[in-house]
Amino acid sequence: MPRPERAFRTPCVIVKRRDFGEADRILTILTPRHGKIDVVAKGARKLTSHKTGHVELFTRVDMLIHKGRDLGIAVQVELVEPYLRLREDLQRGAYANYAAELLDRFTLTDDDDASELYRLFDQTLARLCTDGDPLLAVRYFEMHLLDQVGFRPEITNCAVGHEPLLPEDQFFSYAAGGVICSRHAAQASGAFPISMTALKLLRHIQRSPFEAIQALRVPEAIHTEADRIMVGYITFLLERRLQSIDFIRRLRYTH
Ligand SMILES: [Zn+2]
Repeated sequence: MPRPERAFRTPCVIVKRRDFGEADRILTILTPRHGKIDVVAKGARKLTSHKTGHVELFTRVDMLIHKGRDLGIAVQVELVEPYLRLREDLQRGAYANYAAELLDRFTLTDDDDASELYRLFDQTLARLCTDGDPLLAVRYFEMHLLDQVGFRPEITNCAVGHEPLLPEDQFFSYAAGGVICSRHAAQASGAFPISMTALKLLRHIQRSPFEAIQALRVPEAIHTEADRIMVGYITFLLERRLQSIDFIRRLRYTH
């Protein structure tokens, strides 16, 4: 059997970082071919650290990683794309934080191929650095992240009866996982109205490449409505997911 490689080099984006011991940091990174992993950046909090100095959040770097017994160790870090604006502009930085947190909470640490997710997250950081509407970049990220992690909202057909939706105001149900028509909404609990305009925006974001939506001028009220629906749906999914993790833990410890 060939010996497993002790070290590998990979492009990655820094998703999260936290202090570790006296001088080190643990970085959560997203890589195209190894998925999301945690690595230790030794001495990263010392001013004299050169080799692993470029470990700012939301930068794209090239990293040489030695496999440790538990965690990998970042032994060399080369800055490729600083995405400086995300640390200079508070609002855009906050959107990057939100995207990073979603990414972190919807993915597990493993060796899965994550090239599409990697591209999506990296492109989102780049889009947040342009002068475009940052909310469009965030909505696009949310929608396509949900798609990739298996929670694509149903917004083309009725999520209950599966018949095509008519171009009119409809309802949205977190529990049903999407939009439902007025007829089926009467039978579903917790469905609330969604305007045709907000629905059109979400559909456009779901099925178009970003280039086709980036120049849209979205009225404030529609942004607010789309925001309420997407953040609400995501919160619902995360709470349900946390509950199922709790449930599995309880099972594990009581048997
Ligand atoms: Zn229906």
